[in-house]
Amino acid sequence: MLKGFSFSVVVKAHKTRARAGELYTPHGLVRTPVFMPVGTAGSVKALAPGDLSDAGVQILLGNTYHLYLRPGDTAVRRLGGLHRFMAWTGPILTDSGGYQVSSLGKFRDEGFPVMSRIDDHGVTFKSHLDGSMHRFTPEKAIRIQENLGADIIMAFDEATPARGKAYARHAMERTHRWLDRCVSEWKKCEERKQGKALPQALFGIIQGGNYRDLRCESAEFVVSRDLMGIAIGGASIGKNPEETAENVSWVADLLPSNNPLYLMGVGVNPEDVIGAVLCGADLIDCVAPTRLARMGHLYSGKLRGKAGKWGFTSEFSRGRLNIDQARFRLDDHVIDEGCDCYTCAMGFSRAYLHHLFRSRELLYYRLASLHNVRFMVRLTEGLRRTIV
Ligand SMILES: [Zn+2]
Repeated sequence: MLKGFSFSVVVKAHKTRARAGELYTPHGLVRTPVFMPVGTAGSVKALAPGDLSDAGVQILLGNTYHLYLRPGDTAVRRLGGLHRFMAWTGPILTDSGGYQVSSLGKFRDEGFPVMSRIDDHGVTFKSHLDGSMHRFTPEKAIRIQENLGADIIMAFDEATPARGKAYARHAMERTHRWLDRCVSEWKKCEERKQGKALPQALFGIIQGGNYRDLRCESAEFVVSRDLMGIAIGGASIGKNPEETAENVSWVADLLPSNNPLYLMGVGVNPEDVIGAVLCGADLIDCVAPTRLARMGHLYSGKLRGKAGKWGFTSEFSRGRLNIDQARFRLDDHVIDEGCDCYTCAMGFSRAYLHHLFRSRELLYYRLASLHNVRFMVRLTEGLRRTIV
């Protein structure tokens, strides 16, 4: 076991794979299941570290692709690492950039490379910022993450695109070869530190697309590398709760129960979070709650703990509010009566938020992001209480 890290399952649900756990990192304890907001460029958009801790956020995700391009991982290192740079004292997880550089064309406006070419040794890509050319290899992705200094770092992988089974196998096998290169680079990084820098835990990523045999093969490969944690990635994860649950159920029995399981990119909707937790996820992350907030979409509704298809049925009867709608112009209610976030607790009305949104006032982005982040955090806290 890596110094400063441990994971234990506190209690497991009877009917589902849901479990409550404790993940210790050099920057503190994370009670799982946990939702990780995404701080793409070293900031969860519109929110300061104090806002995040007040909202009950325990751990953040940072993006290697973005931080490498700007301000640069060596600059972050010189400035004391990502924790110090962004003044967040809790745990951080960084992705490897693999998803961004292999998801060309996706969400171009949100900062994905404008060109990328994958070969067996790495990925060459064109920056979305200035069109400059760059190259990531598994070794480089690990060294960048060493510079950023997150507690948990991810192996460099190819997010399997929906291009048929032959390609899914090809991408999976390449991801496996890259995992071995990441592991050997990570071991070198850890040896280099000699106690001068905090240890970082490397998680491996199961790929294999939406194919049961490939997923199982990938799970066996990743598990055999005996890493601190295991992630499940790819386009089929997080798209809808049923497909995600099915993918996870294929490999669940192959995974060691004493490793944290991270479902990557899950959490667009509250139902996705519930589905992920019920199928055994300990960590989830999604950029959607803050992105949706900025677009005017605010979560509403509540979890009811009834036995159902996944062990619960979730009822978000009122669903998401689109605060841009004219019907909120004179609506004096808070976003969600059951919410304890700063925005709802202070009594900011839907009418006021509607006004701020229409006026493009900066306060809107903070109040809306606080609500959506707290909503997801509260949901996972509620799930944890229910499990316990
Ligand atoms: Zn709220």
